[in-house]
Amino acid sequence: MSIQDASRFSRQMTLPQVGEAGQTRIQNGRVLIVGIGGLGCPAALYLAAAGVGKLGLVDPDQVALSNLQRQILYTPADLGQNKVLSAAEKLLVFNPNLQIKCFAQALTAENAEMLIKDWDVVIDGSDQIAVRYLLNAACNKNNIPFIYGSIYRFSGQVSVFQKPGPCYRCLFPDPPAKGSIPDCNQGGVLGAIAGLVGTIQALESLKVLLGLDSLAGQLLLIDGLEMQFEKIALSRAPDCLCCGKAPQPLHEFANQRIMQISPVKLHAWIASQSQLQLLDVRTPNSSDPLKGRNLPLEELSQHLYSLEQGAPILVYCQRGIRSTAAAELLLEAGFTQVYNLQGGLDNLND
Ligand SMILES: [Zn+2]
Repeated sequence: MSIQDASRFSRQMTLPQVGEAGQTRIQNGRVLIVGIGGLGCPAALYLAAAGVGKLGLVDPDQVALSNLQRQILYTPADLGQNKVLSAAEKLLVFNPNLQIKCFAQALTAENAEMLIKDWDVVIDGSDQIAVRYLLNAACNKNNIPFIYGSIYRFSGQVSVFQKPGPCYRCLFPDPPAKGSIPDCNQGGVLGAIAGLVGTIQALESLKVLLGLDSLAGQLLLIDGLEMQFEKIALSRAPDCLCCGKAPQPLHEFANQRIMQISPVKLHAWIASQSQLQLLDVRTPNSSDPLKGRNLPLEELSQHLYSLEQGAPILVYCQRGIRSTAAAELLLEAGFTQVYNLQGGLDNLND
């Protein structure tokens, strides 16, 4: 270890659980963060500061104005930039010795194992339930500790899913119906709650790298409004479809992905498309700056015949929630080029 490193990391190396050997383990550590948002940003910052050797960043999205309230690696100058590239730039300033691999792509059933296989720990920074089930399955299959975190309004949850302990699906056996779980756009969240959960995920990752006891087998419940923390013991479900005797194959998670269009790039993107169908899925009587066709979500399934299946479709609504449901409906109906205006028209007005 260089004299400079010994000095930089001296405060944590003083801990009996770390020492020089532990710091070497941290510096040899490779952590993949899937989703560089409200949880992934603070997690990445603390891991970079602790001297983790290699970070992988996975995120297909670009920085939007409404992200800045909680996604603390981004500034107004980053709007419209790929999150992974913008995050990597900041983290490298923070720690120039850090190796970073950027994946500006969505996690899918096809690429999940390829993306996770070379990492020691995987952090769940995604707010999409489908991604979480897929990551849990891929990590379980490849025996990689999976640091789960989620937030909702003032509350949060964290756990470490690691063999031979329970997995995420032991805890939540059935994926909820699409659209039934509100995300940050819909439910709202305070940035500090995201920071708290992301920081705990970073801490748990470091404990896993150090070989210390982690939250494996336990679920931490955080109530930020009453300021109460509670831990409950988890146990394995014998018939779990992920870690039980008959696991569901990863391709069961295959779902055609909705392609997200960043509001910042919307106008240039529209200009680059030919035969684009613009679909406003809000209830009628809302003013539409994009002047698309109004087809409310509730009526969409009866009017699919009137849409061109082979041509791109951009769906949008006020906040990106109904349009996500509409996009899923279109994908299920066999449409292949389905685009969603990320965050809806509200983000466009930012
Ligand atoms: Zn399980």
